[in-house]
Amino acid sequence: MIEEKIEINKIPAETEYYDVMGGSHRWEVKVHDHGSVALVDSMPRLAPVGQTADFAICQAARVSYGAGTKKVSEDKGLIRYLYRHQHTSPFEMVEFKFHCVMPVFIARQWIRHRTANVNEYSARYSVMPDKFYHPSAEDVRKQSVSNRQGGEEQLEAKTAQEFLDYLDKVEENYKTYNNLLEKGLSRELGRIGLPVSIYTEWYWKIDLHNLFHFLRLRMDSHSQKEIRDYANTIFALIKPIVPVACEAFMDYAFESIKLTRLEIEAIRSGKPINTTNKRETEEWEQKKQLLGLDKTSQA
Ligand SMILES: Cc1cc2nc3c(=O)[nH]c(=O)nc-3n(C[C@H](O)[C@H](O)[C@H](O)COP(=O)(O)OP(=O)(O)OC[C@H]3O[C@@H](n4cnc5c(N)ncnc54)[C@H](O)[C@@H]3O)c2cc1C
Repeated sequence: MIEEKIEINKIPAETEYYDVMGGSHRWEVKVHDHGSVALVDSMPRLAPVGQTADFAICQAARVSYGAGTKKVSEDKGLIRYLYRHQHTSPFEMVEFKFHCVMPVFIARQWIRHRTANVNEYSARYSVMPDKFYHPSAEDVRKQSVSNRQGGEEQLEAKTAQEFLDYLDKVEENYKTYNNLLEKGLSRELGRIGLPVSIYTEWYWKIDLHNLFHFLRLRMDSHSQKEIRDYANTIFALIKPIVPVACEAFMDYAFESIKLTRLEIEAIRSGKPINTTNKRETEEWEQKKQLLGLDKTSQA
């Protein structure tokens, strides 16, 4: 047997380690009416006492020096440097596994993030649960005028109620789905009449580099509110485990602004941005507001 020739040297830890999830098997947060996100595992799961799972980022980054992990303050500087300069591979050394329950229309947006590993509930194999995303009247948004993809303020009450009645009717169809399955219809066909507001679930595993990419896009105000609620929940779940990396993400990615060459020229010259493109000009106006630039000098 080949295994008999392999000697495994189980080296004892030099320092004491602790479980970054505090011995819990699941950190769960409810989202909307029937949804949830649960953190079910983390890599690393064990961190040296006095440090956070951020240590794994530095451990990987320092492999070329063989220096191991240094003081926490130095680690913070290193992580922030790596993030600022997009040295992304050390962030891939940290991974998280989540159990997510969400409506199908959210899952469709979520699954576009191809760098995660996914295992989803099978509606061919199992009966879909009688659970639907059904917003409250205050959450019914009207079509945005400025963003063709988005909704904005609350829709007036009468039309909002009509929409909710329409959802009630659609949800009523679940009975027909169930009856047809009982009469022998295959689940793989029965499901095709169900609305995209029905809930599905999956296990979702992703490394921190790609998770930050997901969060940057899906915590952003341009994302649909419903998926934003999930993204914000995920961020809240990982923040206590990798607080230094999360702070770097906020400082250098999520709350940062990217300036184009034309925008830099406009700042330098104090003149309007050199474009006739309406959308680009509007985007520059928004950035100027964020930067606190005087409207008259940058007209
Ligand atoms: C506000 C918003 C609106 C959107 N609207 C639409 C829409 O109207 N229609 C629509 O179809 N989609 C839409 N999307 C989805 C969007 O186009 C992306 O598919 C989604 O955000 C995933 O981004 P990603 O490919 O960067 O992420 P991931 O799939 O996680 O990939 C991460 C990175 O890996 C690299 N990568 C991964 N796979 C490949 C590959 N096969 N080839 C090359 N590089 C790869 C890329 O650099 C990519 O940025 C929207 C997304 C957002 C946030």
